Amino acid sequence: MEAAVRADWTVPEVHDIYHQPLLELVHQASVVHREFHDPGQVQVCQLLSIKTGGCPEDCGYCSQSAHHNSGVQPRPLMGVEEVVATARRAKAQGVTRFCLGAAWREVRDNPGFERVLEMVEGVSGLGLEVCATLGMLTVEQAKRLEAAGLYAYNHNLDTSQAYYPSVVSTRSYQDRLDTVANVRATSVTVCCGGILGLGESEDDRIALLHTLAGLDPHPESVPINMLSKVEGTPLADQPDVDISDTVRMIATARLVMPASDIRLSAGRHVMGFSDQALCFLAGANSIFSSEHNIMLTVPCADHTSDRALLARLGMQARPAARTSQ
Ligand code: SAM
Ligand code: SF4
Repeated sequence: MEAAVRADWTVPEVHDIYHQPLLELVHQASVVHREFHDPGQVQVCQLLSIKTGGCPEDCGYCSQSAHHNSGVQPRPLMGVEEVVATARRAKAQGVTRFCLGAAWREVRDNPGFERVLEMVEGVSGLGLEVCATLGMLTVEQAKRLEAAGLYAYNHNLDTSQAYYPSVVSTRSYQDRLDTVANVRATSVTVCCGGILGLGESEDDRIALLHTLAGLDPHPESVPINMLSKVEGTPLADQPDVDISDTVRMIATARLVMPASDIRLSAGRHVMGFSDQALCFLAGANSIFSSEHNIMLTVPCADHTSDRALLARLGMQARPAARTSQ
């Protein structure tokens, strides 16, 4: 019998799934993964920083916050042609989802936003799934992105509501949820996930999964990031995330949001072959790959090594859901 897609999970239910013996959990997730997805396919995404650094928010993990001295060189908003050219090269490497990331607190109705709309149109015209992560936005702004051809909007919850104020003080968890709801008011799909390794407890991780799986409908895309520790940020000295925690998080996400894409995101560059294989077995079905070993400002595996990884696993890069325009 096929697993049901439910948005009424209780915290104790998610807790019990999460705390099973690891290989039992992986087995269950693997079975459900095969019911909803082709286990031989992984979607390859690429994330481009279209505006870097100088962000007024104080997210404790982020190299781009103006509150921290991370040494990241701020860069103004890129030109449309350079962005579209980068997306074209990415497509030639097998990338089917291309994300535009801006170090903005929120979208403003200004010439910069008009330029981003042109970028969205241009990248979408290549037949790629185009995603944007631009901070908070209103329903009206989401509708303009929808009209420009945006396929997905990323806005992560990062951690639990209870732990969030220990990570960010310049906005609230409700602000994040409101932006996700504003995107949901359009046909743009929702990409929303979190980060492991911020100093959160297992209960915080369970609460994050419970919140994500309580969104109805579920986010179509759920990135699971491992903190990329950045010198000069408040979270630079956090202990490493154990691979068993990463796998546990992915497998639980797969079980409570069976139809969503679970994306193995930041922090993958330090994972070996078998660690990544275990994540795919546990239900991860997407990776971020890069042109120059960089994703926004943090390290990332490149296309050549990722092609070798998928070949070694006998897996294929998934075609884009949007193939032509
Ligand atoms: N400014 C926008 C926002 O915060 O929504 C978009 C850009 S932001 C860099 C995109 C996401 O990357 C964040 O929500 C966070 O989850 C993730 N991220 C940022 N820095 C990270 C780090 N050092 N390690 C892991 N994930 C990180
Ligand atoms: Fe700004 Fe986004 Fe970084 Fe937070 S995560 S500091 S909002 S760029």
